[in-house]
Amino acid sequence: MKTALITGSTSGIGYGIAEAFVRNGYNVVINGLGDPDEIEQERAKLENLGDGQVIYDPANMLKPDEIAAMVAKAEKTFGSLDVVVPNAGIQHVSKIEDFPIEKWDAIIGINMSSVFHVIRSSFAGMKARKHGRIIAIASAHGLVASPFKSAYVTAKHGVLGLIKTVALEGAEFGVTANAICPGYVETPLVKGQIADTAKARNMSEEEVIQKVILEAQPTKQFVQVEQIAALALFLASDQAAQITGSAQSMDGGWVAH
Ligand code: NAD
Repeated sequence: MKTALITGSTSGIGYGIAEAFVRNGYNVVINGLGDPDEIEQERAKLENLGDGQVIYDPANMLKPDEIAAMVAKAEKTFGSLDVVVPNAGIQHVSKIEDFPIEKWDAIIGINMSSVFHVIRSSFAGMKARKHGRIIAIASAHGLVASPFKSAYVTAKHGVLGLIKTVALEGAEFGVTANAICPGYVETPLVKGQIADTAKARNMSEEEVIQKVILEAQPTKQFVQVEQIAALALFLASDQAAQITGSAQSMDGGWVAH
């Protein structure tokens, strides 16, 4: 049985990816912040969906030692680690001149450097076993910018550079590295933003979706978590062995502009 580790999987896209891997017969390591009792309930619910085991590790993505210990625990518990999905991420929106320095550091740390630390810790094992799949959840903002998101855009562009380098270093060892670049995804986080923006601007939620949130997304539809999870599963499969170093857009046509 194969094993997948997904960072930031107590919510949103990461949780959806964890669910897809469990359903497809993987052991899964989930990770992320949250209330311990709620996380235990989520873990147990996930485990019931498949034949594999699901374990939780609370590693903070700002702590390289905790990330390394999480990877070591996964390898020790399951004997191997086949798929890593660096997914944890946060956002902060502000003009550059006002951008809080601690927010810059946190976004670079969680959204970019933790991707390096997860890969650094798991790469030797994957190379030795001659098999591995690294699937980073980047963003359309890894390919294009928007104003007021300087740290996020910088971090996501950095992830794409890292993934290309890892692809080259893993190429002769059966280890692929790719990034998925979603546009706006309907996660609890985004749903909350819709309601808040509707109140703040005195618009209907549908108007907010069409005119504010999905302005950049030509299909005017959200990407669904299940669609990203399906792409991640494919990138993890044997059929995807020759896809490496790529940025896979799933953004309703956003970067085609
Ligand atoms: P989310 O807020 O629902 O989930 C984020 C996850 O990261 C949570 O599990 C949270 O606990 C975890 N996390 C945050 N800080 C952490 C830390 N220091 N240590 C460990 N875990 C931490 O967000 P989401 O929308 O599911 O986003 C997941 C990824 O997808 C992010 O990298 C995000 O940038 C990317 N993304 C999201 C969208 C979107 O529209 N939602 C679009 C493109 C890319």
